[in-house]
Amino acid sequence: MSSPPATTPGPTAAELRAALDEASRWVADYLESVGERPVLAQVQPGEIAARLPLAAPASGEPLSQILADIDALIMPGITHWNHPSFFAYFGITGSGPGIVGELISAALNVNAMLWRTSPAATELEQRTLSWVLEMLALPATWFGQITDSASASTLCALAAARQAAGLDIRRLGMAGRDLPRLRVYTSEEAHSSVEKACIVLGFGQEGVTKIATDDAFRMRPDLLSDAIGRDLAAGVRPVAVVASVGTTSTTSVDPVDAMADICARNEIWLHVDAAYGGAAGLLESHRHLLAGCERADSLVFNPHKWLFTPVDCSLLYTSRPDVLREAFSLVPFYLTSSESDVVNFMDYGVSLGRRFRALKLWMVIRAYGRDGLAELVAGHIDLARRLAELIEAEPGWELVAPVPLSTVCFRAHPAGVDDEAALEQLNADLVERVNASGLAFVSHTKVSGRYAVRIAIGNAASGWQHVARAWLALRQAVP
Ligand code: PLP
Repeated sequence: MSSPPATTPGPTAAELRAALDEASRWVADYLESVGERPVLAQVQPGEIAARLPLAAPASGEPLSQILADIDALIMPGITHWNHPSFFAYFGITGSGPGIVGELISAALNVNAMLWRTSPAATELEQRTLSWVLEMLALPATWFGQITDSASASTLCALAAARQAAGLDIRRLGMAGRDLPRLRVYTSEEAHSSVEKACIVLGFGQEGVTKIATDDAFRMRPDLLSDAIGRDLAAGVRPVAVVASVGTTSTTSVDPVDAMADICARNEIWLHVDAAYGGAAGLLESHRHLLAGCERADSLVFNPHKWLFTPVDCSLLYTSRPDVLREAFSLVPFYLTSSESDVVNFMDYGVSLGRRFRALKLWMVIRAYGRDGLAELVAGHIDLARRLAELIEAEPGWELVAPVPLSTVCFRAHPAGVDDEAALEQLNADLVERVNASGLAFVSHTKVSGRYAVRIAIGNAASGWQHVARAWLALRQAVP
């Protein structure tokens, strides 16, 4: 038998303290200077992996050496989501207060699965989620929990909808029994997470009906009503309707109130995907966009999109927590606990172990305050409006969708070029050129079948100078 090592493996307390000091300086320097870096990583596939050893080190290395390797090996392959010129997908912010929250949460390393596994984690989650409801003017009575993603939140919501359908699927499953076809309705502009959840839950892709939208990319409630009527007549069982408040492509907002009427008439679960657009509820001027959301059975909003909270933090709310619990609660003996009148969050979702995500959200909300958060969101909406005005006024360019929030979809459309394939090639080249320059990172989408450049403003440090620079770079990239 070998003798025990003289020292415990891993860094000493003094080495750890030095590394934490160094890492916090590194973080502060990074956040201050990230705007000077190229936004999109300028590496080729495999380039980062080629610099990494094939095998893990046999013996421990000093933390100072590992930290130095972050700059040498990792940073060249980072696309800077925290860059003020990151306008692709949805611009987001891992804000300073949120980063501090992440650090402390990692140090505590609690698992917020049962109330007793960290009462503060559960109770802070409950309180911060109530704060968000109040900030967005949503019903104070809703139950909320944090998940890692809108995809997970929507999956849980649709599992609750399936439970509410009363088909005993939780116990009996779906295979080998006489079940009607189950249907979920959403718009053709809805995020793919809705369809993915339906695949996972056994509704199948054919169990999703994508309802057409109007000329502003909002679901047409008359067509929703027709589709439900047709399904009912054919013996299909409607399970849920998913409305979007802020679709991914154009941030269009479905007529939630009219959809809620249809759901109420037909006793169908209404889930709202407000992953991005929910932040509009911070502003009196934009609250009307959430009209009808108060009638939803469930709603998802992502602070890791437009509430300055580091990835990951998605909020799933429901007015029917008992149904969500019925869908998910499964308590083996080793997880029983004696407290009554407490929430054990493991009962309301897929994962047992849950990170202490409420801490970073709490730090963000406290550090900015409701008014500070509203000011940032209003500022982004204003930047998008200014950009849209410039695009409209610029010959050879056009908006391809309305701009209800902070995302602008547009394209170059030079006089005399009307062939769609040629326009797609032209605009795809512009996007490629600007992104390769490192000056900004913009993305693309298709709007009514037309290729569009997409600028989504959501970084707390983004100012007009960043938006204007991206706009100039795009115009200068036109051949
Ligand atoms: N819903 C909408 C409207 C989105 O735009 C996105 C992602 O961009 C999602 C859902 C999925 O979000 P997540 O990455 O948190 O799963």
